[in-house]
Formats: sequence, structure tokens, C-alpha cells
Amino acid sequence: MTQKVTEYALFLDKCGITKELLQQTSGILDAVSEIRLEFESPAVSIEKKHIVIDRVFPEKIRNFLKLLTDNGDFALYDDILAAFDENSQKPKEAGKRAVLSYVEKPTEDQLARIRDFLEKEFHVSGIEIILRENPDLKSGFQLKYGAREYDWSESGRLAQLKERLVKTVFQESGKDFSEEGIISILQSSVEDFELEAQDREVGVVTWVGDGIANVDGIDHAGYGEVVIFDCGINGMVQDVRRNEIGVILFGSDTELHEGSRVVRTGRMAGIPVGKDFLGRVVNALGDPIDGKGEIETEGFRSMEFPAPSIVDRKSVSVPMETGILAIDSMFPIGRGQRELIIGDRQTGKTSIALDAILNQKGKDVICIYAAIGQKASTVAQLVNTLKKHDALSYTTVVCSTASDPSPLQYVAPYSATALAEYFMYRGKDVLIVYDDLSKHAVAYRAISLLLERSPGREAYPGDVFYLHSRLLERSARLSPEAGGGSITALPIIETQAGDVSAYIPTNVISITDGQIYLESELFNAGQRPAVNVGLSVSRVGGAAQSKAMKKAAGSVRIDLAQYREMEVFTQFSSDLDEGTKKQLAHGKALMELLKQPLGASLSMPEQVVLLVCVGGGIFDQIPVEKIGDYKNALITYYRDSRNDILKEIENGGVLTDEIKSEILLAAGEFAKEADDTGSEDGTLEQQEETKEADADAIEQQASE
Ligand code: ATP
Ligand code: MG
Repeated sequence: MTQKVTEYALFLDKCGITKELLQQTSGILDAVSEIRLEFESPAVSIEKKHIVIDRVFPEKIRNFLKLLTDNGDFALYDDILAAFDENSQKPKEAGKRAVLSYVEKPTEDQLARIRDFLEKEFHVSGIEIILRENPDLKSGFQLKYGAREYDWSESGRLAQLKERLVKTVFQESGKDFSEEGIISILQSSVEDFELEAQDREVGVVTWVGDGIANVDGIDHAGYGEVVIFDCGINGMVQDVRRNEIGVILFGSDTELHEGSRVVRTGRMAGIPVGKDFLGRVVNALGDPIDGKGEIETEGFRSMEFPAPSIVDRKSVSVPMETGILAIDSMFPIGRGQRELIIGDRQTGKTSIALDAILNQKGKDVICIYAAIGQKASTVAQLVNTLKKHDALSYTTVVCSTASDPSPLQYVAPYSATALAEYFMYRGKDVLIVYDDLSKHAVAYRAISLLLERSPGREAYPGDVFYLHSRLLERSARLSPEAGGGSITALPIIETQAGDVSAYIPTNVISITDGQIYLESELFNAGQRPAVNVGLSVSRVGGAAQSKAMKKAAGSVRIDLAQYREMEVFTQFSSDLDEGTKKQLAHGKALMELLKQPLGASLSMPEQVVLLVCVGGGIFDQIPVEKIGDYKNALITYYRDSRNDILKEIENGGVLTDEIKSEILLAAGEFAKEADDTGSEDGTLEQQEETKEADADAIEQQASE
């Protein structure tokens, strides 16, 4: 007999349908055989079947018949009837069994009291109690009836006491974290602790595989609730179906098997939070994985949390500087903004996010890097870079590597955001990097397919947009009343062969407030960071740009756009007029200026100075291959000798005409100095060249 038939038979029993009613139904079906044929035919619409059921059959059986026809299982009708008969042959108590585990066998008196308890609780009589010895309980009893479990055992009570203590300390004591406060709370709760039978809902695993388990019996579990399996691993309810619960597993499923026990906790999935998380590397559940020991936690936040409402928000107006000239000048990012970094593999996406983190040093911004499905070696390298630049002290790395099961990769960005929110609601500014959301979508696709949700475009489930929108909506700038902090998000998306019109890229582009588009062609041509000026945009950051920067960067985008157009246009022509030549030289100088190596961030005043210089045509006369060095030397000159100008821009935040002319004047002075030393360099170079030529000649002679 198949499981389905048994389930239907049990369902009949549960609904209290009698044998007489079934006989009556069978009678109708036998009398009008067309009905049976119609019910079994998939060609007949469900509505029509329902109409027939409502007209012909007794009321009590209608729901059952509708269930059968809706599921297309009407052909099983006879089998179900047989199974039902078989069930009812058995003594009535057979289905009503309770299992009592014990260490010391209960006395007759105790058994009678337990039976009394069951009868009162479930309003059924004659429950059979099966006795089972279980030394693990230490002492006392554990009673299981249906999906309910009552724990009067010592081990159960210890767990109960622990839970109660944790609850009183963390949730009820409020902010009173002084040591004495905690001790007195603990004392009073230990004294007041009343041992009571613990009642919890318990289910069994019916299927397990690939980080997913189907569970039968915990009917009241809700979406997002944590459940605990026998072997100690946790899971999160992800799918609530008619007959069973789909659970994603936060750990290896090797010890799980069909029939394993599952207990509901009634708690939503979340991670511990606290300021000690800074400087640490944790996994998607907030457990440290850097070998530096336990982290002192200050609370607990659930992974899923509603985004701040409109009234709680404030418009973006403070810049979040990345220190990268190409971004801060043309695609400024504000605190609370969500700016997508998008590009093919190996185009410097992570590097831009990393540079942004490094540039937050001393700016009172907390950084969180969420690695999703990355290679562990890549993450290790990134942590090392952070350490080397002293940036780990204000950064937390939430890491789910490619070897972690997909459920952990799926929850990693939500956990990271929960941690970010902890800081935001305390008034801090947070920068969070999701590296990358393409892998996140893939992990979610794996989970969804295993949970048997129907695949849609590119085999992603229908709610994959919601997956990212609910994550990124949590980034915001709060109004002072709501806490005043902010979360700036830099999600990363990897495209395939530059295809931004694929499903996930278009989704995330439409969710975010702009994108920085990186191009492999530019990257391979040495233009790094490989920002494509035409396709990148920042929709809100302009409001957060400082006045000085806005004025200095005024025409950069247009100049670059004109240059790119002109470059293609003039590629094959040799005879160019002076104006065009000038424009080309200016564009080339600009492109060269935007090249910036890793970890060489520029402060806002430095960027302004560079932009003013390039606007003044200072770089136009310099040979292209020397612009990089010239730029570095110029910046060093301003840092060392003309710090007053940098300070003035920093403090005033504006670029007046006086400052502008001062900058250009200083640049002229620098050029003069460079010319003097440059000519010396020139003679040196010439000497070197003659030396080399001599060496070549000697070599040639030797070989002859
Ligand atoms: P993946 O697709 O593998 O995640 P990615 O797009 O994140 O790659 P990165 O890892 O950031 O790319 O960078 C790829 C390589 O390019 C690295 O070796 C990095 O050192 C180099 N790189 C990135 N940006 C720059 C830059 N501005 N200057 C010089 N080298 C760079
Ligand atoms: Mg990367």
C-alpha cells in the first residue's frame, strides 16, 4: 500500500467520517458510473467536479472528495476505502499510543496519573502507554503522544532552566548589564524556578538531502523559525506545505537520516551581535572562524528584519568617499545609498569594494564584508589585505565560502545585514559589501529547486527579485529620531560576457540607486579601475557630493564622453585640425589620470586639486606614458609643500576662484621644479643609453 493511500485513510479517520457514510458514497458512485469516470479524467475542470460533488454527495464527505479530485488522486478511492476498513478492524486504541521513556520504571500509580493527564489534555480515553527505557534522560520521564512531547526528565529540565536563564538575562533584564545586576537576576530566577513538564512540538524527518530536510509533525512551525535536530544541528523553516515542512539545514546533513527527531524552538533565525564583532571573521551564523576565541555578544537580531519605513528615513546627504577618483568625481556615493558594482569576472569588482573599505579609516564608519560563495583562499587574501592596512579593526567579515552548503550561503547576506542594523540603529554609519549577489541567487536557486518550487526564467524561482529587494531595502539613512545611523550597500554582481540584460543583473540594477559598470576590455587595456563612464550612473549620490568636488568635477564626464566618441571617429584619419588634437590630448590625459592602483586612495581635497589641474590643461602637454608618475609627484608635492591648500578645501568644502588660481599657481611652480630636475634626469638617461649601447657593442663583438 502506498504512503499516499495510508495518509488519505488516516485523514478520513481524523475527520471523523464513518463507515456508513463511505458505504453511502460508494453506493452513489456505483449507481452512476459516469461520475467516477469524470472524477478520474484530468480533462474535466476542477470547478465542474466541485459542482457535481456539491450536488450529489452528502455534506460531510464533500471535502474529502474535493481533496481527492483536486490532487488527481481519485483513482485511489477503492484502495483508500480498503485501507480505512483495515484501520477500523484494529482495536480503536491502536492509533492512540503514547510512548513513555523512563530511567526507572514507573509505578502503577504513576502510570495511572500519566494516563489521567493524557486523557484530560487530549479528551480521548483508553490510550495505550508503551514503556521504553532510556538512560540518557538521567532521571524522570519523557512522554510522547502524536506530535507532542512532554519532558519531565532531568536532562529536559536542565535545558529548560538554561533557556529560562538566558531569556531572563538577555531579554528581560533590559540594559542592566552590570555584573551584580546579572548575578541577582540569576539568583532570583534560580530560586523561583519551578520545574514544570516541558511541552514542545516534535516532528520526524521524512526525507533529507543536499542541505534540505522534509519534516512531518511540526505542523505549527512558521516561516523562518529555527528547529533543532537530534544530532545537534539547527535548521530554518523555509517552506510550509500542506503535509510537511521544508527545512534548510545550517550544517552538514551526514548525521541526519529519515526518522531523526526535530524539535520546534519558536524562535526566529538570527545571529548574535555586538561591537566585539569588529575585527573578526565569522560564519553565516555569527560563529567566529578566525581562531581568536569566543566573541562577547550584546544581543541577538533576527536575520530577516523589516526595512525602515519612509518616515524613519532621511535623504542621502553625506558622502561615502571611496578614495577612487573615477568614482568619487563622476559617480559619487552617499551614506545610505545602494550602489551596484557590476562586471565580468576578474574586472576588479572586489578591489573597488576593498578600496572603499580601506578608505574609511579614521572616518568613523563601520565596514562589513559579506563573502558569499567565494573561494576560502580569496577571502583569506582579503582579510590579510585588511590587516596589512590596519582596516580590520573597524571591519567584520561574514564569510560563507563555496564549500559551505547552499543554505548557509543563502543566509549569509541577511546575517551580515542584521549585524549592520545593530550598528545603524545605534547611530553609526555602516558600509556593507555583498560579494557577490550572483552567487547568492544561485544558492537560492539550488535551495528552491530542492524544495520543489517551480523554476522560472533561467531556472530561478519566481521570488528571486524579492530575495534581493528585501535585502537591499534594509540599507537606508535613518532620521535622527529613528537612530540617525546609515547603511551604505555595495552589492556586487558578476555578469557573463558583459551581458547586463540577464535576469539577475537587471533585477539588481533596478533595485539599486545606480551602478558602476566595469568592463573587461578596459581592464585588459590597462585602464584600471575599468569603470565604463557611459554605462555607470549614481542616481542619488550627487546630493551628497561636497561643493568643491561638484565644481571641480563639473565637465569630466562630458569631456570623457566626447573623447571616446572622437577617438573612434579619428582612429583612421591622419590629418587632424588643432582643436581636435587638443581635445584628444585632453581626453587621453583624463583617462590616464583616472588610472589608480590598489590601496592608493586619494582624499577629497587631493582629488579636487587633480581635477582642477587637469581642467587647467596642466597634464595636456605631458607625454601620455609619463602622466602617472607626474600625477604622483604632483600629489606628493601638494601633500608635502602645499598642505595649506588641501586643508583649506577640506575645511571649507568649497572651491572658490582664489583657491583655484592658487592651485594652478602651485602646479606651475611644481612644473618649473620638475623641469629643472627633469633636465638633469634627461642627461642621466642619455648617459644610461650610451652605456647600454656600449655594452651591446661589446656583446656583439664577443659573439663574433
Ligand atoms: P572575481 O570575478 O574573481 O571576483 P573581481 O572582479 O572581484 O574578480 P578582483 O579580484 O578585484 O576582480 O581583481 C582582479 C585582479 O585585478 C586582481 O589581481 C587585482 O589585483 C587586479 N586589480 C584590480 N583592480 C586593480 C587596479 N586598480 N590596479 C591594478 N590592479 C588591479
Ligand atoms: Mg571578486
